[in-house]
Amino acid sequence: MLGSTTTARRRFTAGLGLAGAFVLLAPGARAQGTITSPRQQFGFNIGDDYKLPNYTQFEGYWRKLAKESNRMKLVEIGNTAEGRPQLMAIISSPANLARLDHYKAISRKLALVDGVGETEAHALAREGKAIVWIDGGLHATEVLGASQLIETVYQLVSKNDPETMRFLDDCIILAVHANPDGMELVSNWYMKDADTLKRNTNIPRLYQKYIGHDNNRDFYMSNQAETQNVNHVLYQDWFPQIVYNHHQTGPAGTVMFAPPFRDPFNYNLDALIPVELDLVAASMHSRFEAEGKPGVTMRSGSSYSTWWNGGLRTTVYFHNQIGLLTETIGNPTPQVIPFIPEQQLPRADLPYPIAPQVWHFRQSIEYSLTANRAVLDIASRERENLLFNFWRMGRNSIDRGSRDTWTASPSRIDAVKKKIDADGRVGATAMGAEGRPVTGAPVGDPINQFGRGADVKYYNDVLHAPALRDARGYILPSDQADFPTATKFINTLLHVGVTVHRATAPFTVRGKTYPAGSYVVKTAQAFRPHVLDMFEPQDHPNDFAYPGGPPKRPYDNAGYTLAFQMGVTFDRILDGFDGPFERITGLASPTPGSVAGA
Ligand SMILES: [Zn+2]
Repeated sequence: MLGSTTTARRRFTAGLGLAGAFVLLAPGARAQGTITSPRQQFGFNIGDDYKLPNYTQFEGYWRKLAKESNRMKLVEIGNTAEGRPQLMAIISSPANLARLDHYKAISRKLALVDGVGETEAHALAREGKAIVWIDGGLHATEVLGASQLIETVYQLVSKNDPETMRFLDDCIILAVHANPDGMELVSNWYMKDADTLKRNTNIPRLYQKYIGHDNNRDFYMSNQAETQNVNHVLYQDWFPQIVYNHHQTGPAGTVMFAPPFRDPFNYNLDALIPVELDLVAASMHSRFEAEGKPGVTMRSGSSYSTWWNGGLRTTVYFHNQIGLLTETIGNPTPQVIPFIPEQQLPRADLPYPIAPQVWHFRQSIEYSLTANRAVLDIASRERENLLFNFWRMGRNSIDRGSRDTWTASPSRIDAVKKKIDADGRVGATAMGAEGRPVTGAPVGDPINQFGRGADVKYYNDVLHAPALRDARGYILPSDQADFPTATKFINTLLHVGVTVHRATAPFTVRGKTYPAGSYVVKTAQAFRPHVLDMFEPQDHPNDFAYPGGPPKRPYDNAGYTLAFQMGVTFDRILDGFDGPFERITGLASPTPGSVAGA
C-alpha cells in the first residue's frame, strides 16, 4: 500500500542523517506478525447489529493483541469491585515502548513542577511524548464506549498509514477499560436472548457493584476500587495531558455532543484549561466536518459544563489536564435519529445538521474513531506546547499559592456592585500620572470609553480586601472530635495526588497552637485548584435564561465541598506559614498517636 511505502521511506530518510541509523531504526521498523482482527477473534465485527462481546472476551482479545503487536503493552491497573483485573493498554511506537519509564518521568516532572524551571521545562517538553488517555465502558449500559475502545486499539496496533505512525511516534496512548464488571453484566444480559429483536440493555441491577451510574461521581472521593485504580494512573503514575472519557447518548436529532462546553467553568481552574479545551475541540469538530460526518453538536447543544469536580473527566481539570467528554448515540439494536425541526438549522453549536434516518451501531463506532483520531492528531501536532503548558499551569499554581491572591466569584462581584450602588456610584477609574488607575476621576475618562466604570477603590478595598485573600494553606488539628473522618478526608486528597504534610511536633501559627499529628495542606502546589475546590464553598453563578426568568439547571452538582460534607474541622491560613512538617507518603493512618518523635 502507498501508506506503508511512504512511511518506510520517511523512516529511512530520517535515519540516513544519523550515525548508527540502523541501530536506531531496528526496533521501530521491525515488522509485526499478523494482528488478529475483532472478527477473527469474536466471529463478528465490532459494530455489527445485535452483537456485543463481554469483558471475558475483551480481556482475551487484548491479551492476544499484546502478544501479537510490538506497539502495545498490557497493564493491570488493579482489580474491580467483583475481582476482575482492570486492564490498560499502553500503545505507542516500539521505540517509545522501550523507554516508557523515561517518558513517564518527564510527564511527572512537568505535572508536579517540583524544582523544574522554565529552561528545563522547555527541554523536557521538546523531548517528551504527549500522554493521551482514552477510555470506554464507564457507564456500562452505554455500550458504545467499550466497543469503540476495542476497535480503536485494534486499528492503532494494526494500521500502517502515515498518520497512525505519526500518532505512535508522538503520543503514548493509555487505553483503559473503565468498568469491566459492568461490561460483563450488560453484554451477557444483551446476548442472552436468541431472538435478536428481544435483545436490550435494561439490566435489573447496578452495573457497578455498589454505586452503579454514580461511578462517575466518585473521582474526588475514590470510594470504589475502579476509581482508585483510575486516579492512581491519572494523578500518581502517568499524569496524562489529555483525558478523553467516552459516554452515550447524544442529544435528540444529533449523533454526538462533543466539547467545548457551555459556561460556567470553575473559577479555580487555570485559564489555560478552557482555551486548550477549545483547541482540542476544534480539532474534533473540523475532522467531523472534513470527513463528511454531520450531526455533532457542542456548547449549548447540551447541558455539560466544566463546573463540577468529581467526574472522571472533570476532576482532571483541577489537575491541569484537558478533560474531554463525548455523548454519542448508538446501540447494537438499530435505532432512529428523529426529525427535530430545530436540529436542522446550522448554527455555531451545530454547524452541520444530520438528516433523520435509521442508524446502525457501526456508524457510531466510526464517529468514535474520528473523535479519537482527532484528539491524537492535535496531541501529536501540539505535543511540545501541551507538555510545556502542563508545566506552566503547575508553575502558575505554585506561584499563586506563594503570594497574596484573590479569587473572584459571582457573590463577590455582586457584593462589590451593591456597595458601589449604595455609595451612589460616585467617581470612576481614570488614568493617573504614571499610567496607573486613580480614584475619584470625573465621568467620561479615556480608558472607559464604553462606560465610565467604577472608582478603582472598590477593586482595591472591597474586591481585594485583605480578609478575602485566598488561603496559603489549611490546618486540620489532630485534637478535633472526629479525627478518623478528617483522616479519611485527607486520604481522598492523597488518592488524587495532592501533597499533604503532617506535624511531627506541636506548632504555632498566628498565635494558635496545634498538636502533633495535625494535617497541613498548603496551596503552593501544582494541584492547587483541587485543594481550593475541596476546602472552599462553591459559588455557582445565578444562571437565568433572562432577568426574572427561570434558572438554567446546572449540569451536575453545583456545590460539593468535601471538607464540609465530611464535617472536617480546619483553619484557613491567609499568610505564609511553616512548621515541623513531614510529607505524607502513601495514605494517612487514622491513629494520631503513631507520629514518630511527637
Ligand atoms: Zn454516561
